[in-house]
Amino acid sequence: MSTKNTQPTPTIDYDFDAKHIWHPYTSMTHALPTFGVVAAQDRQLTLEDGRTLIDGTSSWWACVHGYGHPYILQAMEKQLHQLSHVMFGGITHSPAIELSKKLINMTSDRLTKVFLADSGSIAVEVALKMALQYWQGQEQDQKQQILTVKNGYHGDTFAAMSVCDPQGGMHTMFGDSVTKQLFAPAPQTPFNAPLMDNDLSLIRQIIEQKHHTIAALIIEPIMQGAGGMRFYSAEYLSGLRALCDEFNILLILDEIATGFGRTGKLFAYEHANIEADILCLGKALTGGYVSLAATLCSDKVAQGISDSPAGVFMHGPTFMANPLACAAANASLDLIANNQWQTQVSAIETQLKLELSEAIHYPHVRDVRILGAVGVLEMDSSRNTAQLQQEFVDLGVWIRPFANVIYIMPAYNITPVELTQLTTAMKQVAANIKLSASEQSFISHG
Ligand SMILES: *Cc1c(COP(=O)(O)O)cnc(C)c1O
Repeated sequence: MSTKNTQPTPTIDYDFDAKHIWHPYTSMTHALPTFGVVAAQDRQLTLEDGRTLIDGTSSWWACVHGYGHPYILQAMEKQLHQLSHVMFGGITHSPAIELSKKLINMTSDRLTKVFLADSGSIAVEVALKMALQYWQGQEQDQKQQILTVKNGYHGDTFAAMSVCDPQGGMHTMFGDSVTKQLFAPAPQTPFNAPLMDNDLSLIRQIIEQKHHTIAALIIEPIMQGAGGMRFYSAEYLSGLRALCDEFNILLILDEIATGFGRTGKLFAYEHANIEADILCLGKALTGGYVSLAATLCSDKVAQGISDSPAGVFMHGPTFMANPLACAAANASLDLIANNQWQTQVSAIETQLKLELSEAIHYPHVRDVRILGAVGVLEMDSSRNTAQLQQEFVDLGVWIRPFANVIYIMPAYNITPVELTQLTTAMKQVAANIKLSASEQSFISHG
């Protein structure tokens, strides 16, 4: 082997990948370009050709402490050798018990029961099933519909899909196979702005007419994520809690994207000082090291389910409460508990405001939004994800735009220098954007 100028041997079989492996929201016959990643450490991804990229997405918002964190790795390694997996039917283990104690302690008082699922979409399925079974226990079987707002995103499985935005989601694609739910307009009042009169009155009208058939209202608190990275008023959210109380509707908060500090509060519902009846957690739960999600509910909901004809809650995935995933989550939550995230997220917010605000003057930028460790440039129309992706990679960063938004959600421990690299790249790409008809018609998700 020569010692000078050795290029790393290509180890990624791109050809096989393109021909045989699905990627999120893509075609198997017209594969989009992919970048081979061979390693990740801290906030950096290493590509197969040796280039490194600063990660602005935390791997879809999950990897909040960065990659290769020694504390999480150590906890997982220990667990791997002791008990990597065991079924949860008729068996229990300390990693699940420790995690459930932590989740109950860190969330609001009302939430006392924990269901450990294997992904965010499943946590949402579980939440919806809980709501339906609860009303069966109240002998109100007619309460079977779910109310939500437009622009929402709750996952890709069928029930989760039924409460995603009806246009941006996949309702038309799957027709009658998707349960028809109730949709109010998306909240229009931005975060921290005075509540617009219309916002609550529109959803109130639907509730007044339909509350006899509504089991639950589901919403992403404060931040609508994959539905457009929109931040809405905390007053709107507390208004929804009041409406749910007034009309006997369960409130499901989907904190899968916002939980664990992302918006500047440990949970986004804290901006509104409210409590959920059912809460969904995922993504950053394990610090992004392995898949795990949780659905928490109140004593009241658990009692209702016990009073239902089934008498038990009807869900139980094979990998429920996987010990290895619970160990990763326990370690990640230890890191959260030392509360450094608060100073880190607020420093990120300050720096994002300083560095991104000027982009509002760019011709194709319609809005600049910043909340906690989330920075968003909303463009005037949708862009070609694959092309922008290449431009970002050429600038040494991993930022993955979707539809008309270019956003970052970095790890909380990102350095100021790394963050400046991300915001500089965002501004550079947004400033140089040119719009062609072909780009407009070629939009990919994710
Ligand atoms: C990502 C996400 C989900 C789905 O989680 P998966 O783990 O991808 O199934 C659900 N709700 C929200 C708000 C999300 O951001």
